Amino acid sequence: MPDTKKEIERRRTFAIISHPDAGKTTLTEKFLLYGGAITLAGMVKGKRNSRHAVSDWMEIEKQRGISVTSSVMQFQYDGYCINILDTPGHQDFSEDTYRTLMAADSAVMVIDASKGVEAQTRKLFKVCVMRDIPIFTFINKMDRDSLSPYDLLDDIEKELGIGTYPMNWPIGSGVDFKGVYDREKGEVLMFEPEGENAGRKEVKEQDFSLEDAALKQAIGDSLYTTLADDVELLDGAGYEFDLEKVRHGKLSPVFFGSALTNFGVEPFLESFLKLTTPPLSRETSHGVVDPQDDAFSAFVFKIQANMNKAHRDRIAFLRICSGKFEKGMEVEHVQGGRKMKLSQPQQLMAQSREIIEEAYAGDIIGVFDPGVFSIGDTLCSPGKKIRFEGIPTFAPELFSLVRQKDTMKRKQFVKGATQIAQEGAIQIFQEIDSGMEEIIVGVVGSLQFDVFQYRMENEYNVDIYMQTLPFQFIRWIDNEEIELKKLNLTSDTKKVQDTKGRYLLLFSNQWSINWALEHNEGLLLSEFSRS
Ligand code: GDP
Repeated sequence: MPDTKKEIERRRTFAIISHPDAGKTTLTEKFLLYGGAITLAGMVKGKRNSRHAVSDWMEIEKQRGISVTSSVMQFQYDGYCINILDTPGHQDFSEDTYRTLMAADSAVMVIDASKGVEAQTRKLFKVCVMRDIPIFTFINKMDRDSLSPYDLLDDIEKELGIGTYPMNWPIGSGVDFKGVYDREKGEVLMFEPEGENAGRKEVKEQDFSLEDAALKQAIGDSLYTTLADDVELLDGAGYEFDLEKVRHGKLSPVFFGSALTNFGVEPFLESFLKLTTPPLSRETSHGVVDPQDDAFSAFVFKIQANMNKAHRDRIAFLRICSGKFEKGMEVEHVQGGRKMKLSQPQQLMAQSREIIEEAYAGDIIGVFDPGVFSIGDTLCSPGKKIRFEGIPTFAPELFSLVRQKDTMKRKQFVKGATQIAQEGAIQIFQEIDSGMEEIIVGVVGSLQFDVFQYRMENEYNVDIYMQTLPFQFIRWIDNEEIELKKLNLTSDTKKVQDTKGRYLLLFSNQWSINWALEHNEGLLLSEFSRS
């Protein structure tokens, strides 16, 4: 097999999502440990044990060098080359998570066994299902008192509307946690707590089958009886493991374990690697592109400014969809209509950024963005001229009127707001035909307002006033020609413009939307902008 083909075949690219504190960082660390990418746990996030309150989140963001470099990681394991994409653990950033999922071929969802699917993460987890990619569940912290495994599975099924298939089954929890029963192998893997921040630990091979008398002795009569009943129930329930369903995101394989104590992490990783696929083909404007296609192609799924405050740089993250990338190669930026050399191609590994020489379909690279890229843009070998499916923008649901405190800082104000909007963190609107003295900022989750304000002050040095507006719904006006003045609208409806000059209406309630449609014949409203 030619080298490029082999390199692509061994790639696995997944996003990891969880509620804050469920153990995503710990699990990621253990993956990296197994891959030999780091030697000691505790290296992934700069700030451990943060409470993830708004202020802490900001604090993490303040150390962007750390939090961002840890957002894409690559490691090798058992001949595979694995790319992990980190996502923010709060549902106010579910749009960001959605974009990251666009770059992934599967997702790993980490759940705290004592909490199940938490309210704050419901939306976040749901966006996972919207992409139809395989979702693997790791139920973490079994060494702590946990909810019943049946309740946990039920919770996931109800919340996400997908099926679950337990790959292993826990024996007790908390101080009584004895291990898990591997349903495929028919073996019990005994739990031996191994202390925090332990180095690489081999999985114990001295495990029992269900029939071993020694097992009963090891876990005690009561847990043994429960286990035997549970296994009988699960096997008898008739739920077949269906790989096709897994690959289409309809059935989530579930694993129980404890990341902190290194329990169940390696079996999870091995099973996961077996069940997921190499990079998949992707739809474009000109048909499907196969990852093994000779021509290079990629799309931008994330843009992040000011990662390094000293350099004021802006990095565009690309997911490579086909072919091979080589440093210094010329590519075509399809949306920009021009050829360019991608400068400073970087791969981000744990704490360091490295300039890379080559990368393959499935990989994520960061490139310097001189301000020309937008989220969803396609880059490809010159002449190929394909466009990947766009990345949808979520309709904002919360709006604020924003003004700078010091009118002398207008330039920074406009720059900051525009750049943050280009990153897709906020959307900005303004009064019809007005300048940008005041803008209306729309977001999907309220935490984004805090981040916006914090970044305006800290990165762009502009203090701002923010005033909450009562709007909840946004509709773009799709009519080619419209006399805005003549529109018959309720008094609480506002006419605004987006940055591309398109007109839209902000409504406070559904009733006003109905009013607008009923009183203006031919008015066409849509929830998404036509870009
Ligand atoms: P994240 O916010 O999802 O990245 O969560 P972290 O990985 O930072 O973990 C949050 C807290 O839970 C930390 O104090 C971890 O040490 C702890 N933790 C993670 N995994 C486990 C586990 O399996 N068992 C126990 N008891 N604690 C864990």
